[in-house]
Amino acid sequence: MRILGIEGTAWAASAAVFETDDPDALRSGTDRAPDPASDHVFIESNPYQPDSGGIHPREAAEHMSNAIPEVVETALAHAAERHDGDGPIVDGVAFSQGPGLGPCLRIVGTAARSVAQTLDVPLLGTNHMVAHLEIGRYQSGFESPVCLNASGANAHLLGYHNGRYRVLGETMDTGVGNSIDKFTRHVGWTHPGGPKVEQAAKDGSYIDMPYVVKGMDFSFSGIMSAAKDEADDGTPVEDICVGLQETIFGMLTEVAERALSLTGTDELVLGGGVGQNARLREMLAEMCEQRGAKFHAPEPRFLRDNAGMIAVLGARMLAAGDTLPVSESQVNPNFRPDQVEVTWRGARES
Ligand code: ATP
Repeated sequence: MRILGIEGTAWAASAAVFETDDPDALRSGTDRAPDPASDHVFIESNPYQPDSGGIHPREAAEHMSNAIPEVVETALAHAAERHDGDGPIVDGVAFSQGPGLGPCLRIVGTAARSVAQTLDVPLLGTNHMVAHLEIGRYQSGFESPVCLNASGANAHLLGYHNGRYRVLGETMDTGVGNSIDKFTRHVGWTHPGGPKVEQAAKDGSYIDMPYVVKGMDFSFSGIMSAAKDEADDGTPVEDICVGLQETIFGMLTEVAERALSLTGTDELVLGGGVGQNARLREMLAEMCEQRGAKFHAPEPRFLRDNAGMIAVLGARMLAAGDTLPVSESQVNPNFRPDQVEVTWRGARES
């Protein structure tokens, strides 16, 4: 099975080809597990880089309309090279149906529909946040992990129960990466801010910041205001970066631990662009080690937005017969992970 994946929810115009000789292994409940070592993933991405400020939806959509055709063409050329025999060069076209920026999603949806219809292959509508989880599950071989999605526009814990990925805890305001980016814009750094905070924190000392966890949910708006105030008061920016990282990642780690405890699961996977941060991975790995749980963080190219994870989830969906009629393929900027009926896992799996 060979799947084309297309991603473009916000900043990454990306297309990928995922190929496996053992599609049945992609469905849970069979006697085999997927073998990432023998499968093949090719990813071509073209990121949108704002000249100033943060991600501007209209500019991001312009970027998608220029870059999506190019990355799709490259991915399809790659698929054609690997194709030997009759029939279409891919067996299905998977795309991010949401959540994300509406103007960007519409371009991705149009591209996916066009390619699927031209090649006469099924369309596979994926939820971008479920894809962040499933790439970790696929790579780790974990059966039923809890997932911490720490991305730009989102922050939540997901766990599987009764046919859906349930949101166990989530941000009450902004996404975790977006909140860090707001602070870095305030101090005049270019987008994205996360990597710059990680770098600056290497030279700083810890300062206290507001730590806001309410039950299973967290809030980042207070800490952002506090960080901006500290900068305006002349606190060294390196110290603020240490305070930010330790506090925000401490909040994420606390709720991740509670999710493991509440679900009784001993497997944690990480998803999302903020997961590229070594300090966050270190804190999560330490917490898992202390409680005897297993932890998996995909490599950076599969953590930040990428079409590889879309293609892998699309392959799971195609193996389960979960295809999307073009007439129902409208995008959904607010598509929540718990709206997805998880067809590729056994119905009675808890
Ligand atoms: P979503 O997946 O919710 O749609 P997104 O489209 O914004 O999110 P991602 O690629 O998941 O995209 O994450 C991008 C975010 O990751 C940005 O906010 C960026 O600042 C942050 N980020 C990237 N690298 C790091 C890092 N090393 N440390 C902290 N944050 C980082």
